[in-house]
Amino acid sequence: MTAITTSVFELFKIGPGPSSSHTIGPMKAGYNFHKSVADLSLDIQPDNIEIRLYGSLSATGKGHGTDRAVVAGLLGFKPDNVECEFLDSLADGAPRKFESDKISLPLSIKDVVYAEVENDFPYANTLLLRLRKGEEILFEQEYYSIGGGFIKCKGQQEEIPRVPPHQYSNMVELKAILTDEGLRMHQVIVENEQALKGISETEVYDKLDTILDTMKQAVMNGLAAEGTLPGPIGLHRKAKRLFENSSQPNAADKFLLRLNAYGFAASEENAAGRIVVTAPTSGSAGVIPAVVYALEEELKISREKIREGMLVAAALGFIAKHNASIAGAEVGCQGEIGVASAMAAGLISYACGHRFWRTENAAESALEHHLGITCDPVGGYVQIPCIERNAMGAVRAYNAYLIASVENEKFHKVNYDEVVRAMAETGKDMNNKYKETSLGGLAVSVPNC
Ligand code: SF4
Repeated sequence: MTAITTSVFELFKIGPGPSSSHTIGPMKAGYNFHKSVADLSLDIQPDNIEIRLYGSLSATGKGHGTDRAVVAGLLGFKPDNVECEFLDSLADGAPRKFESDKISLPLSIKDVVYAEVENDFPYANTLLLRLRKGEEILFEQEYYSIGGGFIKCKGQQEEIPRVPPHQYSNMVELKAILTDEGLRMHQVIVENEQALKGISETEVYDKLDTILDTMKQAVMNGLAAEGTLPGPIGLHRKAKRLFENSSQPNAADKFLLRLNAYGFAASEENAAGRIVVTAPTSGSAGVIPAVVYALEEELKISREKIREGMLVAAALGFIAKHNASIAGAEVGCQGEIGVASAMAAGLISYACGHRFWRTENAAESALEHHLGITCDPVGGYVQIPCIERNAMGAVRAYNAYLIASVENEKFHKVNYDEVVRAMAETGKDMNNKYKETSLGGLAVSVPNC
């Protein structure tokens, strides 16, 4: 098995909601195409751009804003520099100008073709981007959105990552490094990150602060917002009400109500297409922010400890991505909320000062109890069950931490690698209609939204 070379800041990315695979990935594909066209020399001038979406990008792309995201990318925007208001404005379908060195073409969301859901591409979530003159295809690139905002482009050489000093592909190998080299887990990850990105330790922590501040801002924005979320469901935001209720004298449980409120808040912001952090995806962008906010604001854990916990959470996410998947379109929601909950449980445990075996047990337990969870967003919108599921993922992470923090190590029977393997196998056997296609589950049994 090859060593993990994913960067912390490829996993935790700032960008607009509602979906990393359906919004951020397609925007990156559009931007990559925009750059590729600038290097072309064509004898024939194209007269249009065709955007073909396959797999769940086709099935639920409308509800996920894929059309606007890919058009924004083609216009030269990236997830970290696009304005949410600009993305919203593209919904009007009016033509904008695609411009590169020698080409100027009209472009709008009307150029999007929702093609076959079932397909034979190597990855179900495929985009074909084409420059055409009439029916003739002058230039084409094939992109795969593989989850968490990561993309691949057929035939395009992937950047060869630098070699990290600590090489591991799973938890067993990572723990061996801790034992053999006498390091703590966050040290391993920070040293790898420095090597992978060629940056100093201070820069790693500064970038982590930006991620943490953006997560907290998403929670604060969500707590302040009211009204209904975009789309035909007419779903009312709940975060503010939950938070206000937590301060009532008869509140059932102040801490849990607030943890739920924070999960709803960031997730509702994601559903509204506002700025969030993929953690590890946009659909699951409420779980870790809820926990971070609660740790800092309710439990008064220091920023230093939370940064360390975030590095450990990243390692847990890397291992899940490397050995299974973090894409709802590949393994169902267990790969999104399940992995987010595992990362969050590990974060809480490590930030609260527990040794690594307890942290692994907390993460394992959180993922174990999300095994088999399907992805069936109602109407193709990242709202039902996604928003509430983020709050549940945060609470389950906290519960997994509580159990792991007091249990006897000898009695914990399942390790993290084993539960990740179980998730991969379960995902393989899961029917495609439960993988972000909105063709099964709640999406079918709640048809009137
Ligand atoms: S059901 Fe889960 S995996 Fe599917 S879109 Fe919602 S949060 Fe993502």
